[in-house]
Amino acid sequence: MAMQIKRQTGCEFLLNLLNESTNRGSMMRKWQCLVCGFIYDESRGLPDDGVAPGTSWDDIPETWQCPECGVTKSEFDMIELTDD
Ligand SMILES: [Zn+2]
Repeated sequence: MAMQIKRQTGCEFLLNLLNESTNRGSMMRKWQCLVCGFIYDESRGLPDDGVAPGTSWDDIPETWQCPECGVTKSEFDMIELTDD
């Protein structure tokens, strides 16, 4: 039984490592306002709006509004941009 627990833990450890390296990649996401087309770039943030560069979309408060048209986060969608 002890061996089973050990094996499970080791597996989880590896999975966590994999997940972390994926999440920690320099890839920052971009989000686009569906109403006006404004793009929020996580790597750039919105310094004029008090949002520091590198701020994850998840950390933007729900009450935040699009600087262009005033809609909230729920009107934004993630857009995938490939570098190559
Ligand atoms: Zn907008």
